[in-house]
Amino acid sequence: MAKRKKTNCIPGNEKYTIQDFNTEFPNDDACLSFVLESRWPDGRTMCIKCGVEHKHYRVTGRTAFACDHCGNHIYPLAGTIFEKSTTSLRTWFYAMYLMGSTRCGVSAKQIQRETGVTYKTAWRIFKQIRTLMSEDVRLEGSAVEMDETYVGGTRRGTRGRPSGNDKQKACVVGAVEREKGRVVALVADGATRENLHGIAKEYVLPESIIYTDEYPAYRGLDWIHGYDHRRINHSQGIYVVGDIHTNTIEGFWSLVKRGIGGVYHSVSRKYLQTYLDEYSFRYNRRNSGQPMFVSLLEQIYERAEQPHASRDHETLS
Ligand SMILES: [Zn+2]
Repeated sequence: MAKRKKTNCIPGNEKYTIQDFNTEFPNDDACLSFVLESRWPDGRTMCIKCGVEHKHYRVTGRTAFACDHCGNHIYPLAGTIFEKSTTSLRTWFYAMYLMGSTRCGVSAKQIQRETGVTYKTAWRIFKQIRTLMSEDVRLEGSAVEMDETYVGGTRRGTRGRPSGNDKQKACVVGAVEREKGRVVALVADGATRENLHGIAKEYVLPESIIYTDEYPAYRGLDWIHGYDHRRINHSQGIYVVGDIHTNTIEGFWSLVKRGIGGVYHSVSRKYLQTYLDEYSFRYNRRNSGQPMFVSLLEQIYERAEQPHASRDHETLS
């Protein structure tokens, strides 16, 4: 496992090096100031007590900032994934850094080893970070590939659909747009016509061409829903006819399976969607030109519940 090639995991053109990280976030204070700045640039925000905007200054030894006029406190971590944690903020940031520097995933063991937090804490940190990575993508463009696959269970690495009694495998349905290359991947309770068609209708524009294999449950995407539906006959050993193929979505599946099989070893069905969200988040930003870590940092405040500045609470840190 240690032989896994690191170079395959680091996106080449979107480097945010560990030196960059250490310089920008040398300690907890730097991380806290970053969250403050992201939410309230220059510490300027409405003070609930004064009723007007004031600059807020750091309160020594607390994760609070105080209004420079009346002293009322605001808590930049309120409503974020860090709010109730007793773990060092820098450890959280470092875990996000690791999450952003891989294509294959990061094991909780690694952050445990590198920072000394317990395995349970490490696992919980990643679970929280994954909540930042779930998003509601609607596909665009004229061409979309759709496919389903099976993750988990004992027959790892085998292709094809499991027999009816292979309950350990979870069905995952995916669709990827060819132009922008964004993906949607969802755990489904089976590759039924109802599920496959439902996902197509929800995520794929009606005027799109949908490419699938010959699996019967896809039938009717054209005559029921009006898509231009083109199918490739995998069972006859044919994988590409002109632009009719599902190679893009299959590439994504192999990324997910390599990660879940190689890094996470196995993922319970209960959390599978959060792992799919993790892979999709990175996949959908692979050409953004912005370091993945920076995209993740943006999610901290984009997803934070708006805190009430006068909320009377103590953070645990
Ligand atoms: Zn005030």
